[in-house]
Amino acid sequence: MTATLVEIRDAIRSRRTGAREWVEQAIAAIERLEPQLRALVSYDADRARKLAREVDERIARSQEVGPLAGAPLLVKDNICTRFGPTTCASKILENFQAPYDAHVVERLEAAGAIILGKTNLDEFAMGGSTENSAMGPTRNPWALDRVPGGSSGGSAAAVAAGMVPAALGSDTGGSIRQPASFCGITGLKPTYGRVSRYGLVAYGSSLDQIGPFARNVRDAALLLEIIAGHDSRDSTSVNSPVPRYTAALDTPLDGVRIGYAEEYFGEGLDPEVRQAVEAALDVYRSAGATVVPIHLPHTKYCIACYYLVATAEASSNLARYDGVHYGHRTAAPEDYIDVYCASRQEGFGPEVRRRIMLGTYALSSGYYDAYYLKALKVRTLIKQDFEQAFGQVDVIACPTAPTPPWVIGEKINDPLAMYLMDVYTVSANLAGIPGISIPCGFSGAGLPIGLQLLGPHFAEERLLRIAHEYQRHTDWHTRAPQIAAG
Ligand code: GLN
Repeated sequence: MTATLVEIRDAIRSRRTGAREWVEQAIAAIERLEPQLRALVSYDADRARKLAREVDERIARSQEVGPLAGAPLLVKDNICTRFGPTTCASKILENFQAPYDAHVVERLEAAGAIILGKTNLDEFAMGGSTENSAMGPTRNPWALDRVPGGSSGGSAAAVAAGMVPAALGSDTGGSIRQPASFCGITGLKPTYGRVSRYGLVAYGSSLDQIGPFARNVRDAALLLEIIAGHDSRDSTSVNSPVPRYTAALDTPLDGVRIGYAEEYFGEGLDPEVRQAVEAALDVYRSAGATVVPIHLPHTKYCIACYYLVATAEASSNLARYDGVHYGHRTAAPEDYIDVYCASRQEGFGPEVRRRIMLGTYALSSGYYDAYYLKALKVRTLIKQDFEQAFGQVDVIACPTAPTPPWVIGEKINDPLAMYLMDVYTVSANLAGIPGISIPCGFSGAGLPIGLQLLGPHFAEERLLRIAHEYQRHTDWHTRAPQIAAG
C-alpha cells in the first residue's frame, strides 16, 4: 500500500474505504513480502480484523472515533504490548509476555489505530543494521542483499515496502533516523522527555526516545501529536503542552537560518551522500532559507562518549535478565550462580554481551573516573556545542548516515566500523535534542540517502515545518521500492 496515514484516515472517516479493507491490504502486503523481508517478529491478523470491524461498526453507527481510527500500524518489538510477545529480538525474552501496554501503545489504540504486530530490531536495540537480531536480519526493500539500517530496521523496512503507512521505533543513538535514511522514508526522534518511555524496554535510559516512521513529514507530525505528552509513569517525561504539529506545517520558510557544520562533512563521508545533502541545502536556499556556517567542535568525541554512556547504562539495565525474573533460563545449571551465568550466556547474543562487558568495565571502580565520569563531562561539552549553535541558527542540516546501506554481513565482524557509522546521529541523543531524517536522493546504485535536520529542545514544531517545506519542493519521499508495487 502506498497510501499515507492522512489519506487512510480521511478515507475511513468519509466512509469511502472501511477500516477492514485497509487492514486486509496491510495483511496481504505482509503475507506477500514478509518471506523476503523478515521485517516482523510477530503479528496477529485475527486481532487486527476484529479491531477493524469494531471501527467500521462505530462509523456505521455515527459514533465518535479517534483521529487514527482504523489505520494499520506496526511497533518495534522493544515496545511492550499486552497482545503477543515482546522479545526485543533476543533469545532471553523469547517467550516474554508483557503484563501491560506501553504508554505509546495506549495512546495509539485510544486514537483508534490498529497495531498489527511487532517489528524486528537489533537485539535490545543494540546495533545499526538489524543483523544483531536473534530472529535473523531484516532486508532492505530497495536492495534485498542490503541492511535496512537499525536498530529499528523492521519498522523502517515495513513502511518503505508498503506493509503499513507508518510505524514506531526507538532511537538511542540513531535507531529511527538511520533506518529511515536507509529505507527512503521519514523518521523522527523527539526531544528526550517529549514521549513517555513507559513500556519501552530500556537500553540507555538517558538516551532512549520513541518516535514515528512515516512516508512523509505530515504523517510523522500526526503520529507525534498522538504519542507525545506527559505521563507520570516516566519520571523523565516532560509536562509541557503538546503543540498541534500538523497545524504548524504550512507556514512559509522566509528568514529561516540553517546551520552547516563542517565537522559533519569531513573524512568518511561518502561523496554521493555529500552531494545529495548539499543539493538539499540548495533547495532550502531557493525556498528562502539562509545557510550559515557553524561549528560543533566536540563532534570528534561523540562516538567515544556515546559508546561509554550507552554501554554503561545498558550494563545496568540488562542486569535484570538473570534467568529468574524473566525469559530464558538455562536447562541444567550446576549451582545457583550458574543459573545467572549460563542463562545470560545462552540468552544474549554476541553484541549484547560485548556491550555489557564494555559498560561494566567503564563503571567499575578504578575505571569509573577515567571512562564513565569523563564521558559525562564530554557529554556536557557536546550539549554546549549545540546550545551555542542554536544561538545562531534555527536548525542544523547534515547527513543522517555517512554512507548508503551496506551489504548484509559486510561489517558485522567489525564492531568499530559499525559504531563509526553512528557519527552523525548519536550527538542528538547525548544532547537530548530532536532530529528528523527525510529522503533527499539516491546513490548511483539506487540506494536511498537521508538528510538529517536537528533542532533545539522541544523545537519539533519548527523541525517538522522545515522538513515539510523540503517535501513540498521535492518528490524523493514519494518514491517507493519496486517490491512495494507487487
Ligand atoms: N547504532 C547505535 C547503537 O548501536 C544506536 C542504536 C539505537 O539508537 N538504539 O547503539
